[in-house]
Amino acid sequence: MKVPSVIDLTQELVRCATPNPPGNEAPAADIAARYLRTAGVEVTLLPLAVGRNNLLGRVRGSGEKRSLVYCGHFDVVAPGDMPWSHPAFGAEIEAGLMFGRGTADMKGGVASMLAAVARISASGVRLRGDLVFAGTCGEEVDMVGARQLLQWDGWPNTEAIFISEPTNLNLVVAERGVVWLKLAVKGKAAHGSTPQLGRNAILMLGEALRRLNPHSFTHERHPLLGSPTLNVGLVRGGTKINMVPDYSEAQIDYRLVPGQTAEGVVEEIRQVLERYRREQPDFRYEVSVMSTYPPMTTDPGLEIVHHARRVGETLWKRALQPGGATYFTDAAVLAPGTGKPVIILGPGDPAQAHQTDEHVPVHQLEEAEEYYTRLALEWL
Ligand SMILES: [Zn+2]
Repeated sequence: MKVPSVIDLTQELVRCATPNPPGNEAPAADIAARYLRTAGVEVTLLPLAVGRNNLLGRVRGSGEKRSLVYCGHFDVVAPGDMPWSHPAFGAEIEAGLMFGRGTADMKGGVASMLAAVARISASGVRLRGDLVFAGTCGEEVDMVGARQLLQWDGWPNTEAIFISEPTNLNLVVAERGVVWLKLAVKGKAAHGSTPQLGRNAILMLGEALRRLNPHSFTHERHPLLGSPTLNVGLVRGGTKINMVPDYSEAQIDYRLVPGQTAEGVVEEIRQVLERYRREQPDFRYEVSVMSTYPPMTTDPGLEIVHHARRVGETLWKRALQPGGATYFTDAAVLAPGTGKPVIILGPGDPAQAHQTDEHVPVHQLEEAEEYYTRLALEWL
């Protein structure tokens, strides 16, 4: 039987649609499990819920060295409302690009890691430490899979975690954290013809939002991650055109840099809002945290980072300067939860993630497979 190439495997995974919500990652995990087992890899499926499981694949080493963990998520975001030039789950290849939801984020990355692990296992080479593939559920929504994975007993004996999210095959050792906030404003209803009798919650919310400037927040510019950002992603309020709205709310996406905490940001937002309330005593509000993940940084001076860099520089004959990512990944759970360094490198342009016509250059899939093969063989 012909072993599927990394390209075949990426296509198979993309065609197995796993938009989250609801996730339904089990069929994709099954594809990965079958593929790894054929190559002699020990596979465990870890059930989370109906239709959802994490996967652990392990190539056993002699135990002289600590394990390397390769990690990727099986879920994708929905295709969205815009029309695609190629079917969203078709994995069609045109002019060297594979199109489809998840080609870049991150079934291409998952396939390149699976192919590397399978290749090493099938070769029968004796490793000095375990090589592990961890496939997760739920990264796009709540990281439920990464959270479950924290219970794995192999973490203390792990050297480092690699995640193949799209970086255009660049080396990423830091990512910003996030705090998602809800700002709710209460006003007073009145007839639209007599607005002076009400207190307009929408107008007060607008003024409050105008005063939140991300750069006014206490922070130190990070060499790899820059400054924090703030985006108002959703606003709700009002019931009818001829009524003064008595309630409105905004959802705010604040990206943290190292040194900042969710509590600190909330406190600073409160200070801004309190200043506004002193000018406008009718302004009544509530700020609540919907969810938060801390920033992740890996020390670029670690030997494993040097190794990760050398392998890529040798393969691709270009400088591989450790950089930062603006987005967050499973590392937001795995790095603080395990205390292990996380390095992100994968095929595809990060700007393609969550976009219509998402695609990945096919040659990057092969390059990533080669990279992850060498990385493990030379370290272990
Ligand atoms: Zn992703």
